[in-house]
Amino acid sequence: MRISFSACKQAQPLQVNFPGGLNMDQFIPGRRRKDKVVVVMGATGTGKSRLSIDLATRFEVEIVNSDKMQVYKGLNIVTNKVTEEECRGVPHHLLGIVDPDADFTAVDFVHHALTAVDSITRRGRLPIIAGGSNSYIKALVNDDMEFQSKYECCFLWVDVSMPVLHSFVSKRVDQMVDARLIDEAREFFDPQGNYTRGIKRAIGLPELDEFFRNESSLDDVTRARLLEDAIDKIKANTCKLACHQLQNILGLQNQLDWKMRHLDATEAFLKRGLESVEAWERLVAGPATMIVGRFLYE
Ligand code: ATP
Repeated sequence: MRISFSACKQAQPLQVNFPGGLNMDQFIPGRRRKDKVVVVMGATGTGKSRLSIDLATRFEVEIVNSDKMQVYKGLNIVTNKVTEEECRGVPHHLLGIVDPDADFTAVDFVHHALTAVDSITRRGRLPIIAGGSNSYIKALVNDDMEFQSKYECCFLWVDVSMPVLHSFVSKRVDQMVDARLIDEAREFFDPQGNYTRGIKRAIGLPELDEFFRNESSLDDVTRARLLEDAIDKIKANTCKLACHQLQNILGLQNQLDWKMRHLDATEAFLKRGLESVEAWERLVAGPATMIVGRFLYE
């Protein structure tokens, strides 16, 4: 493993066993220890980005995005990309890099993610793959021989009870609307009504199609009602996506026997202010730091 000891800023007690970043396997003929990668999984809205950035304040990390809509350029609000401020200087890869009309496939993802992970590892840093697209993660971790031969994964699963998550993502949609989601989506309105390619598949665009098609010809009351219906559909489809992603995660755990470390963030979502921050640290960020520390230095 090439992650040096300077890579760990806070997990000091874990450093004593392997001083200087020595990899004992280097001394065993014919055995090369795999480099390490952390995979942060979870349904939309559970806090995968927050956890990844938290970990980056404790380890030398670079983040590889695995959200299939956030790989595209544009629609930063609709797809809920992390802002520059939220990134806190942590390098992000595969975020907003693909032409919005291109079809970026799982094969493309594997190719780009592998290149990013290789380069992060070469820099002596820890790659964290974070995002909700489980088909992309499966393609990379399970179906790609090259990745399997080089890397060993630690899976962190951030989970929030579904009713609590549904309420959170519904409020998040309202905040996105306040942050000009409608104006952003209008730029991607397709007069042909074709939302089957590239970024146009993002939740938010097909739901607003009818509104954009008719808004200029409607009176204020009808226009407001149509917009409200579209926003309700966005909320419902985001909740459906969360359920679908949870089912996919459970499927990966059961069928592929991935050893996922379950981090239940529900309490942090139910509390407010400082209490919420404390619960997140106690239930999610703190345990994840311990798990990653052990994974790196075991
Ligand atoms: P599937 O194979 O069913 O597509 P997946 O795990 O590869 O599953 P998901 O990330 O669950 O993919 O995305 C499924 C669909 O949800 C996307 O095709 C898109 O329509 C929508 N979606 C996913 N992520 C976002 C996002 N960040 N913003 C808006 N819509 C999204």
